[in-house]
This record gives sequence, C-alpha cells and structure tokens, in this order.
Amino acid sequence: MPPHPSAEGPVVKPQEPLKPYTTFKIGGPARFFVCAAAEDEFRAALSLAAQHSLPLFALGGGSNILVSDRGFAGVVVHPVCRGIEILHEDAESGTLEVNAAEAWDDVVRYAVERNSWGIENLSHIPGQAGAALVQNIGAYGQQVSDVLESVQVMDVTTGAPRVLSTSDCGFGYRRSIFNTTARGNFIIVKLTLRLAQHARPNLDYPDVQAYFAERSVEQPSLAEIRQAIITIRDGKFPFPREERGGNAGSFFKNLSLAEREYAALRANTERNFSPRELVRLEDIRKRFPLSDQIKIPTAFLIEICGLKGYRIGGAQVNEHQPLVLLNQGDATAQDVIALAKHVRRTVYARTGIAISIEPELVGFTRQEIADIYYLEES
Ligand SMILES: Cc1cc2nc3c(=O)[nH]c(=O)nc-3n(C[C@H](O)[C@H](O)[C@H](O)COP(=O)(O)OP(=O)(O)OC[C@H]3O[C@@H](n4cnc5c(N)ncnc54)[C@H](O)[C@@H]3O)c2cc1C
Repeated sequence: MPPHPSAEGPVVKPQEPLKPYTTFKIGGPARFFVCAAAEDEFRAALSLAAQHSLPLFALGGGSNILVSDRGFAGVVVHPVCRGIEILHEDAESGTLEVNAAEAWDDVVRYAVERNSWGIENLSHIPGQAGAALVQNIGAYGQQVSDVLESVQVMDVTTGAPRVLSTSDCGFGYRRSIFNTTARGNFIIVKLTLRLAQHARPNLDYPDVQAYFAERSVEQPSLAEIRQAIITIRDGKFPFPREERGGNAGSFFKNLSLAEREYAALRANTERNFSPRELVRLEDIRKRFPLSDQIKIPTAFLIEICGLKGYRIGGAQVNEHQPLVLLNQGDATAQDVIALAKHVRRTVYARTGIAISIEPELVGFTRQEIADIYYLEES
C-alpha cells in the first residue's frame, strides 16, 4: 500500500523509477515520489521526509540533472500545478505570475503572443518555470533574472512560505542561492516576471544576426525572434523528445577567464596543439577585446582535444555540440560519469583548464562526486 501523509494528501509512489522523469532517460528509483499540486501537498512531502529522516529533492522537468543508477534514497517532490496569470498590464510593462510547474517554453510562447518582451531569446529551453531560477537560465544574451520581480518559496525546514526579491536570489552566470548557498533549502512555488510592452530586441549574437541577414529582415518582430531562436537551437541542440536519445543540454559550463588564466591557456595551446588551433583561440579572444573576463566556449577545448563523438558504453560526446553528452539509448549513469571524467581529465591535461559540470548529480555519494571532480596535477 503506498503511504499517504494525510487522508486527502497527495499520492505517494514508493520506489518510483526516475528515468522517465528525466530528459537523459537515466536513473534508478526514488524511495518516495510525491506529485504536489498545492502548498499543503508540498508540506505533506516535507512531513514524509521528516518522518522517515530522508533527504528531499525537488524535481521539475528533469532536464538539468543526472540521477545515479541506484536512484535517490529520499523523497522526490514533483510540482504539478501549472498556470499563468496576468497581475498587471499597461503600455509600459506586463507582470505575470507563473506557477512553478508551468513549462518554461509555454511561458515564453504566452509572453510572445501577448507582445511582451524580455524572454523571447530563452525560447525552447526545456524544463519547468520554477527550476528556471535555480541556475538562472540564459541563452542568446538574455537570462531569467533580468525579468524576475519576486519568487514565492517554501522553506523546507519549517514549511513556511516566503517571498524573495531578485536581489535575495544572488543570481550570476548559471547560479543563484538555489544551487549554491541555499541549495535544497527552498521549494520554488511561484514566480513573478515583469516584461516590457515595447520592443526591446536583443540581436547581438552572431547566429541571430546571421539568421536575419540571410533572410534580409532588418527589424524582426517578437514572433520572428522567437522563431529564429527555435530554428537556431534546433539546428544544434537536440531538444529532448521521446523518439531521440536523451541528454541534459550542456553537460559542461562555459568559461570566463581572467587575463592571467587566458595567458596560461594560450601557452598550453601553443605547446600542445597545432598553430591552427592557436589562431582559432586568438580569434575567440579578439571577440572580447575590452572585457576583463574572456569568454571561451568549453566546446572549443573539447573539440581540439579530439573528443567530439568520443563514446564510453552508451554515452557519447555530441559530434555537433560537444558540450552535450548524449544517451545513445542504453547509457547508464556510470557510462555518463566515466565519459565526463575522461573529458575533464583530457581537457585538463592538455589545456590546464578545469571544466565544471552543469547538471545536478542526484543520488551520488560525496566520494563519487569528489572522484568526478578529481584532477591529477600534470
Ligand atoms: C536540450 C536542452 C537544452 C538546454 N538549454 C539550456 C539553455 O540554453 N540555457 C540554460 O540555462 N539551460 C539549458 N538547459 C538546462 C535546463 O533546461 C534548465 O536548467 C532548466 O531550467 C531545468 O529545468 P527542469 O524543470 O528540467 O529542472 P530539473 O532538471 O528538474 O532540476 C534542476 C534543478 O532545479 C531544482 N528544482 C527544480 N524545480 C524546483 C523547484 N520548484 N523548487 C526548487 N528547486 C527546484 C532541482 O532540485 C535541481 O537542482 C537545457 C537542457 C536541455 C536538455
């Protein structure tokens, strides 16, 4: 009999396989799996975790996690309440209140249909709206923190509701308090976004510029920008669908290097790679002549190390976008971890750069995570 925290409480599924809830299509079962639609159902999940002295994990669309083959020995709480409400709209701006379980891309589509600007470049990012705040999703020059007004959360220790402002959330590149200092402390329940009602196109990215140049469009509409982003993304980033092999988007984070770190990378590239690769690196450097943080695509380093298409078991480095690790159908979490370790260690040995992993590793021991991050000094 599945346990129920209260008579009318949410259905709790014991030993529920997590694989189908992740875009990687990998992972063992959760000890308990709770679908929560309302605040009292979130609280019921907290009580269940407390009652069994188990850790709690909030699972959205499962597009930024890798679950261990053993699964998660705790309570997984999965928000299921969708919905978008307009709180305010005038000639200048519109304010939307969005439930955590709403699909992020449906929020973008809704905003674009209402002619509200500010998140169109974040089209076709998978996952739930609540989770979008966790790593402060970003793409093509926009990030969700730019339009966030406030967020309603539940404190997992007390079950008390709280409202956090944007500055409380400590946003940065792929980071917030939700994946750093306050990791696991809050369940995100609702977010309020403030969007502009007048045109605010952000067309700086070369791919976006090339897309409109090819089509001779000088002043694209909001809907055309959304379509451009979808077309560009689908050309290089496999949007997770049932019929395709799984992935979790970028498995590795991009780099932002200080001048001194760039100089070390340049010296290693000169020493360990052909002159052609050095010229390519210098061309990348020239794109940011004034910045004190030099952005280097991690995909470039993985590529010059000859790792495109590299495979271990059922896991493979994507040929087209090597930041992405693919589940070619039968990969285990162990295959993905072995591949990630190989990529990190090869890139470190040849370039001196330690690359970071983007998805959250769920159900792995501290020792396993330390081992993934271990790099031998060269
Ligand atoms: C094909 C593909 C493309 C992608 N492209 C991008 C991109 O361009 N830019 C980008 O930034 N990301 C990208 N991602 C990563 C991913 O889509 C985002 O990080 C997304 O926001 C994750 O949402 P999710 O609902 O799937 O979260 P999950 O994977 O379910 O969870 C991710 C983290 O959020 C936490 N979490 C989830 N819901 C809640 C909640 N309600 N309260 C508290 N914590 C919660 C989880 O505990 C976990 O730590 C991509 C992924 C894929 C598969």
